[in-house]
Amino acid sequence: MGLHKPIAHLSRGIRQDFIVVDHICGDPDFEDGGNPLVRNCIMAGRDPILIDTFGCSLMGIDPQEVFYIPMAEKLGSGSMDLEGACIRTIGEEIGEEASGERRFVFVKDAVEEVESCSACYAYLMPALEKLLQEGLLSDLPDKICIGQGWRGKSGKIGVGSCTSGFDFCVKGCPPTDSQIYEELKEYLQSPGS
Ligand code: SF4
Repeated sequence: MGLHKPIAHLSRGIRQDFIVVDHICGDPDFEDGGNPLVRNCIMAGRDPILIDTFGCSLMGIDPQEVFYIPMAEKLGSGSMDLEGACIRTIGEEIGEEASGERRFVFVKDAVEEVESCSACYAYLMPALEKLLQEGLLSDLPDKICIGQGWRGKSGKIGVGSCTSGFDFCVKGCPPTDSQIYEELKEYLQSPGS
């Protein structure tokens, strides 16, 4: 059913007046981690929507594209107005700068994700990384589709049973990383793939 609407309503339904964000060593690329970025920072605030909007600004994400944020603002949970925010920095920032070379960035180009479960996506990442290291992703004939949004649809390459209508599909719900790696490798190396 999607998470954005429930998160937006939850933000309205529970009392939040002091939000703490551990920003000491996060991973801006992927929720399961694996590519840490040390920032040595802890953020605290009183407005959950403002905190998330600020987090988006640090990561270069347009908060309007994180749908629960504007939804929650409309419901009255807080404000997205960063210009009107009072932001105080205590101490010096001594963490690493985000580098342009992030480990999972290539995935954005290789994958077409629509409402995928975290487990499915999490298994796909290491499989793709291995294929990338072996030089097999450069010849990808089409994007790899993953997620519940592909159910009942057709396409070329899919991962997970949600894409069972595709020409090639790694079946499983979710399929494991080794299964994805093995089956995609076989597919990419097969003549006419
Ligand atoms: S195949 Fe299963 S785990 Fe993967 S996106 Fe579909 S429902 Fe989720």
